[in-house]
Amino acid sequence: MKVRILGAHKFESRHARHTCFLIDGVLGLDAGSLASSLGAAEQGDVQAVLLTHQHFDHVRDLPTLGLTTLGDGKTIDLYGLAETNDAVHQHLLNWDLYPDLTEPLGPEPAKFKLNSVTPQEGFRAIGYRVSPISVPHTVPNVGYVIRADPGGAVAYTGDTDGDISAFFKDDLAADVVFLEVSFPNRLHDQAQITKHMTPAGLRSHLLEALKAGIRIPKMVAVHMSLEHQDEIVEQIASVGEELSIDLTPGHEDMELEV
Ligand SMILES: [Zn+2]
Ligand SMILES: [Zn+2]
Repeated sequence: MKVRILGAHKFESRHARHTCFLIDGVLGLDAGSLASSLGAAEQGDVQAVLLTHQHFDHVRDLPTLGLTTLGDGKTIDLYGLAETNDAVHQHLLNWDLYPDLTEPLGPEPAKFKLNSVTPQEGFRAIGYRVSPISVPHTVPNVGYVIRADPGGAVAYTGDTDGDISAFFKDDLAADVVFLEVSFPNRLHDQAQITKHMTPAGLRSHLLEALKAGIRIPKMVAVHMSLEHQDEIVEQIASVGEELSIDLTPGHEDMELEV
């Protein structure tokens, strides 16, 4: 499985994109930069998208992706919690901001098909085995463990300040976990209110996992606040060093073979 980080940040700027991933060129993980970082032909290769939650930075490029590829006659499968799908349908694809791309706009089939996922109930999406895992955020959020047949497994937690050990223990054990670290430690209060992770919060979750004897895989931090990036990167490095784990910051256009 080849995983490409399209966006590794919480906000977008000239050289930073919303947190978003592309697996093997065909499976999107969130859609915050699924159009802005891909050429039109690459957008046309996307067959399915797993959505973690409804926040704008995670769904923003859906209308653009849909309209760019509208004429190709292919339907893109969107997977998300019922709450996520409802919010996308009601607030983004609603004939107010954008056309409802879940309905046919002409003789061709609808561009998007919304599929509801249930936490802890595995399913198959374009040949990948996918396990959605519920983790706390300010709105319903699921992360995913995605396994290729045959091949490795990769996980993405979505936005959360909660315990993420479910993504790398037992049979779901991912080889690489992408997790969010949005704020530096000194903005703990802001992180707590918005339910985002700090390096210190991550450290305490990982310590618990280590105490429980859980092996911690390679971890890549994303969803960083652009303006606090240097501070976050420094604090992540000290957590990795202290716990002797492979914990590194992600960046746009980073590619990993899993
Ligand atoms: Zn969020
Ligand atoms: Zn977010």
